[in-house]
Amino acid sequence: MINIWAKTLPELEDILVRGGFQKFRAKQLRDYLYKRFVFDFSEMKQLPANLREWLSANAVIDKPEIVKEQKSDDKDTTKLLLRLDDGSFIETVCMHHVYGNSICVSTQVGCAMGCVFCASTQKGLERNLTAGEMLAQMFAFREVFDAPIHSLVLMGSGEPLQNYEEVLRFMRLCHDPELLNISYRNMTLSTCGIVPRIYRLADEGLPVTLAISLHAPNDEIRNRILPSSRAFPIEDVIKAARYYFKKTGRRVTFEYILIKDVNSSLENAEELHRLLGDLNCHINLIPINGTEHIKLFPPSTNQIFRFQRVLTSHGRNATVRRQMGDEIQAACGQLKRRFIQDVKNSSK
Ligand code: SF4
Repeated sequence: MINIWAKTLPELEDILVRGGFQKFRAKQLRDYLYKRFVFDFSEMKQLPANLREWLSANAVIDKPEIVKEQKSDDKDTTKLLLRLDDGSFIETVCMHHVYGNSICVSTQVGCAMGCVFCASTQKGLERNLTAGEMLAQMFAFREVFDAPIHSLVLMGSGEPLQNYEEVLRFMRLCHDPELLNISYRNMTLSTCGIVPRIYRLADEGLPVTLAISLHAPNDEIRNRILPSSRAFPIEDVIKAARYYFKKTGRRVTFEYILIKDVNSSLENAEELHRLLGDLNCHINLIPINGTEHIKLFPPSTNQIFRFQRVLTSHGRNATVRRQMGDEIQAACGQLKRRFIQDVKNSSK
């Protein structure tokens, strides 16, 4: 069976031509899939009967199904749980901002990075997602809301740069004017800092925003929070960020999770400032979203803003991120854990 989901126009044309059909049918088929959300070949009435029959006999639309939907009380965040065809689950979140919908996409099932605050990494990496499975996360929201998508952030479960080829293909599909037409500038790729892949991404020539999970001002603290960071010294990560800025002109964002008694002292803020030197960047301060399985807590509000003020007093651009969707476990991996636990409990 040929999977026709998440194909570029030339790929789909090639499939149809090989099946003995005219090239222009590919565009009609794409319209059904991505504009009208028709996934039953027999309902694609604009296609000739012989093509509908051929598709039914030879092709599949291999995309995950939505098994659970949760909305936050303030309706600002919606989270979907999707079941993949091998029975794995992935989560995807839509944040409804005033400027439009932004989707947080997962790139792997599970994750190998081992960040201490993250539920997605508890069972390690299970597998990479295909570009089609990532695209399906975007279209799941199109189906649910039938509203345009403004931007995407690759910040769900997984380390995107460990699934490099599929992530790149996914971003190109999202950029395709006939699919989602999302500007590369409205795409943010978040990484733990896989240094060689940052250089490679910089050389692709795509003006994607790079967000680096820094979370510490030095290697000693960083290695404790992000065990995978031992492979890449923090100085090398900053050097790669400089290269990225130079090549793409895109200001890099550093994500910094604030954890009480770990990385949130005023000395830590000063050290962070010195580490970044003259690099033009944005610092996104994120008070940790404490969950039931970890014993890490956010600093006091006073401490959070004092940390921010140290950075801004040096002329740095540093903001404190508003937490969205706490009550629906919007942090990655939490809804999946809860759902699997519920299924296990109900089958006891
Ligand atoms: S925060 Fe991201 S990179 Fe770190 S373990 Fe979780 S999913 Fe992986």
